[in-house]
Amino acid sequence: MAQRLRVHIQGIVQGVGFRPFIYQLAHRHRLNGYVANTPKGVELEVEGGRDALHHFLEELPESAPPLANITQIETEELPAAAYSTFEIKASQEGEERAALISPDTTTCSDCLRELFDPQDRRHLYPFINCTNCGPRYTIINDIPYDRPKTSMAVFTMCDDCAREYHDPLDRRFHAQPNGCWSCGPRVWLADSKGEDLKISEPISEAAKHLSHGAIVAVKGLGGFHLAVDASQNEAVKRLRSRKGREEKPLALMSSSLEQIERYALVKDEERRLLTCAQRPIVIVPKRPGNTIAPEVAPRNRYFGVMLPYTPLHYLLLSHPFLALVMTSGNISEEPIAIDNLESVERLGQIADYFLFHDRDILLRSDDSILRVARGRPRQIRRSRGYVPVPVFLRKPVAEVLALGGELKGTICLTKENRAFVGQHLGDLENLETLEFLELTVRHLRRILEVNPRLLVHDLHPDYLTTQVALAQDELPTLAVQHHHAHVVSCMAEHGLEDKVLGLALDGTGYGDDGCIWGGEILVADERNYERVAHFDYVPMPGGEKAIKEPWRMAVAYLWAGFGEEIFQKDLPVLQSWGRDQITVLIQMMRRGFNSPLTSSCGRLFDAVAALIGVRDRIAYEGQAAIELEQCMEPTTDKYHYELGEVGDRLLLSPTAIFAQVFDDVVSGVAPELVSGKFHQTLITMFADACLQLCKLHGLNRVVCSGGVFQNVFLLENLEDRLGASGLEVYTPQLIPANDGCISLGQAIVGAATLEE
Ligand code: ZN
Ligand code: ZN
Ligand code: FE
Repeated sequence: MAQRLRVHIQGIVQGVGFRPFIYQLAHRHRLNGYVANTPKGVELEVEGGRDALHHFLEELPESAPPLANITQIETEELPAAAYSTFEIKASQEGEERAALISPDTTTCSDCLRELFDPQDRRHLYPFINCTNCGPRYTIINDIPYDRPKTSMAVFTMCDDCAREYHDPLDRRFHAQPNGCWSCGPRVWLADSKGEDLKISEPISEAAKHLSHGAIVAVKGLGGFHLAVDASQNEAVKRLRSRKGREEKPLALMSSSLEQIERYALVKDEERRLLTCAQRPIVIVPKRPGNTIAPEVAPRNRYFGVMLPYTPLHYLLLSHPFLALVMTSGNISEEPIAIDNLESVERLGQIADYFLFHDRDILLRSDDSILRVARGRPRQIRRSRGYVPVPVFLRKPVAEVLALGGELKGTICLTKENRAFVGQHLGDLENLETLEFLELTVRHLRRILEVNPRLLVHDLHPDYLTTQVALAQDELPTLAVQHHHAHVVSCMAEHGLEDKVLGLALDGTGYGDDGCIWGGEILVADERNYERVAHFDYVPMPGGEKAIKEPWRMAVAYLWAGFGEEIFQKDLPVLQSWGRDQITVLIQMMRRGFNSPLTSSCGRLFDAVAALIGVRDRIAYEGQAAIELEQCMEPTTDKYHYELGEVGDRLLLSPTAIFAQVFDDVVSGVAPELVSGKFHQTLITMFADACLQLCKLHGLNRVVCSGGVFQNVFLLENLEDRLGASGLEVYTPQLIPANDGCISLGQAIVGAATLEE
C-alpha cells in the first residue's frame, strides 16, 4: 500500500546541494514525488511503502549535505497521489528569499583531491569549489542566492562548467561560484604599486618571494592578508613596523595539523576546531623550543593558528613553509582591505608584492578567532565561517536593528526566532569602520529581508554608533545600558527567559549614573535590570588615557587607598613612574579634572599588571590583563576582601585588594605569585557575592559576560566554584564575551521592549 508524505524542512537548506541530496535519497529508497525550494526552506513529497518512507525520514537528517543546517522538519500524511517519478522542481524567482544563507566554507575533500590531481581539468585551479564548499556570504549582493546576484556574475560559464551546473546529480549542481581555468576567476602577481608582473605561475612566484623574506598581500576570501614567512624574524619584524602593529600577536597558517603540532600544543577539542568547515583561528599554547620567529607573538604563551581554507591558500602552503604569518590586510584598527585598487593605496607601503584575483569580495569578513575553555569552543572574534548563521531564540520576536557598542563592533538584526549577528567590524572609532557598519546594515537588511521597527544603540552619548542612531529619523530609537546588553546576550544564546543574576566584568561601559561601569552584578531579565553589586568607584586620571597607560590606574587605586603620603615613600615601584607625573595625576584627581569615576574590573587588572611590573603602557586593548593572566602562578592564597553592604547593594572594594597587592610588591613577593593571589581573590569574592545575592533575590541562575571572561583561568574557576555551590552557570560560547556581543543583547532588549 503506497503512502504519501509531505515534508517541510527549515534551516540552511538552499544553495548547499540539498535538492540533489533529497533526489538521490529518494531514488535509493525507491520513492517517487518531488522536491522544491520554498520561501521558508525546502518542501518535498515522497510516496512509497511504509518501511521505505520510515527509512528515508530516518536517514534524511543524518546524511544531509555538509553545509546544510536543519533547524526544523515537519511531516504531514496525505492520501496517495500515484507519482511515477521523482523530480527536482525548478525554483521560481522570489521563492528562495527568506531561506538562510550559508556562510563561506572551506574547500571540501572532493575538491581538494581534484585540486592536486594532474588528470583533473581543475588541476591546481585556485578557485575550485562545489555545492559543498566555497565562498557564499562574501560574494552575495542580493537574494535569491543565484549567480547573477553574486560577484561571479561577470564570469560566463564554459560548456563543461554549465553542464555540471545544470545536472542535478553533479556535485556542482547550482554551485553559484562554479568556474574553471577557461572560464572562472584568475590570479596574478603584482608589484607594490599594483603593476601586473605578468608571471605565468604567480602563486609559485609569490611563494618564492615569501621564502626570501618578502611581504606579500594575498587577496583571500573575506579580505586581504599580509603574509610573511613565519620562520624569519627579520621579515616578521619588518611587517610589524610597517603595519603599525607593534605587539599584538600575528595569526599563523600552516598546511596541516602535523605542521602546526611542530610548534604548538594541540588537544582534541582544538584539533576538531582547527579542522572544522569554518576554519577559524584557534588560540593554542606554544610548544617549548619551537622555531617560529619570536616576533610573531612576543611576551605571549600562545599562538593563533589556522589551516588553509581556500584552494589558493592550499596552493600557497604547498610550498615548504612551516607556517606563514597571515594577518589582516589593514593598518592598525582600520577595516581589512578587500578591493584591488583600494588595497594598493592602503597596503602599498606595507607589501612588497600583491597576489591579486578578480573575483570581487562584496562583503569583507575577517578570520574568526576562537579558543577552548572548559572543553568548549568560545568565540573571541566571530566572523568568516560563522556569519550569517543566526542565534536561534526561544521564541519569535519583533524585527529590530541594533548597532552594538564601540570596540569590537557588530550589528544585529532580528527576524522571527532568529538573531543575526553580523561579522566583526573592528573598533568604531574612525570613518572607515563606520562606513563598513552602514554597508553591513544595508547588506544584511537586504539579504535577510528584515524591516526593523526599532533602532537600538548604547547608552554612551559619545559613541559613533549612538550618534548614527540619533542622526536618523527613519526609526524610533532605544538606548540600552552596556552591561545589561552583555547579560542579555548571554541569556539569549542559552535561551533563558526569567530573571537571572548577571555578572558583567569588562573594561568600559557607560552607566545609567554617567559613571564608567565595568565590575557589575545585575539582577536582569530581557526588559529591565537592577544594579545589585559593583566595585566601588575610583577616578580614571586622564580618562581614555588611563586605559592606554595602566600605571595611571595604579596611581589612582593607591591614592584612593592610602592617600597622598604613600607617594612620598622612596619605593622602586613608584620611582619608575616619575614623581612629577604622579603629582600631576594626583592634582587631576583631587580637582576631579578629566577623571571620570569607574567601577571597571578591567582597569583593576591593568593596575595590578602595572604595579607588579608586567606592563605600564599597552599597545592593544586588554594587553596588560592578558599578560597578567599569562604570568600567573596558580595558588590557593588570596587577599582579604569584604562584601560591604550599602543600602540594598553590595559594594566591593578594589582599593582594599589593591593595597594588599601593593604590600606584597613592596615586600618582594614574586609577580607570578601576586598575580595568582589576585586571580584567586576575584574568583572567591565574585563567587561569594553571587551566592549571597542569589539567596537574597531567590535566583538560581548566574549569567557571565564581559571581556574579562576571556581570561580562561577566571572563567573556568568561577564556573566551577559557582557550580559547586549548586547554581546554574551560563557563559558565552557562540557569541564573544567581549563587546562583540553587545548588539545581540541590545536587539533582544529592544524586541522585548517593543513587545511590551
Ligand atoms: Zn567542494
Ligand atoms: Zn569552466
Ligand atoms: Fe563590554
